[in-house]
Amino acid sequence: MSDLIISLEKVSLNYNNEINSGIRDIDLSIRKGEFVSIVGESGSGKSTLLKIIYGLLSPDRGEVYFKGLHLEGPSEKLIPGHESMKMLSQDFNLNLYARVYENIESMLSNDDLSGKKQRATDMMKLLGIEHLAQKKIVELSGGEQQRVALARAVITKPEVLLLDEPFSQLDAMLKTQFRKDLKHLCKNLGITIILVSHDSVDGLTLADRMIILKGGQIIESGRPEDIYVNPSHAYTTKLLGNAFTLSAEEARLLGIKSRMNTVMIYPEWVQLTSGWTGKKYLVREVFFKGFYEDVLLERKNIQLIAINYKPGIYHKGDQVQVRILRYLEFE
Ligand code: ADP
Ligand code: MG
Repeated sequence: MSDLIISLEKVSLNYNNEINSGIRDIDLSIRKGEFVSIVGESGSGKSTLLKIIYGLLSPDRGEVYFKGLHLEGPSEKLIPGHESMKMLSQDFNLNLYARVYENIESMLSNDDLSGKKQRATDMMKLLGIEHLAQKKIVELSGGEQQRVALARAVITKPEVLLLDEPFSQLDAMLKTQFRKDLKHLCKNLGITIILVSHDSVDGLTLADRMIILKGGQIIESGRPEDIYVNPSHAYTTKLLGNAFTLSAEEARLLGIKSRMNTVMIYPEWVQLTSGWTGKKYLVREVFFKGFYEDVLLERKNIQLIAINYKPGIYHKGDQVQVRILRYLEFE
């Protein structure tokens, strides 16, 4: 018996027979307790993939298995969706005029009334929303609502939690908190989590394994740190780290000898040095980012961006020395 919980074999789905919609030939195996993130641009097929895993959509071709058993699609089931899974999507599906505790408790059966209260209280504590228990959903902020929705999704102890862009409504501070909540939940409750997002930070920060989706197909899969520094596609470096692209000819002008067609460089690999060890570049623009700056550089009509962690020392028009610490090459 393997510890696989979900597997997809050659799964495809096109909407209205349009070949460029939906997803194509997806092979994917997910282990019990694994935290998998799927990152892709808008329209890359993330929501389609999640809906197929949950059983809300039937694939045109291929098979989906839950613990080795064929997963039934909507045409084979009275109530679509799988009872061991929960899906949290952008619309939280909360009862806006009911109180927080009511929204959470209503997910549990009435067989054990006192146990029900206790479990709801424990879950609210775990997610730091206990103080909101008596408030109505309409009185909550977007971030608070999102946590109630998460509490609702996990209180029934699903084996698998599917998250469709769960951070999209949150501002930066809440995002960080919510990411912590999720990691905490995954560890504490042993839930298998599949999270899809267009935001690379979600994929990089949380997951045991990250999958890159492009045009409905999986183009990379692996540990986030491996994919970031050693991607198989130039596209991935753009998606994950805002890398910039140089042609082989441009790279040569900057002193990089590449035998491949494309050179990709992450901004953090471009180092500004005070010594005379690098090549001379012109500072075109400095973008203040708080604790760092993006410094737009130019040499021989080619532009690069460097990250500078000591804001204030470079100014537009300066001549600076630059060293390129690393680069990636692609055909
Ligand atoms: P994502 O969640 O990554 O933004 P989706 O899975 O929603 O992507 O969509 C993937 C592709 O399929 C997109 O090109 C989208 O326009 C198309 N698509 C999604 N849903 C439908 C639909 N109901 N009818 C037709 N095309 C759709
Ligand atoms: Mg989507």
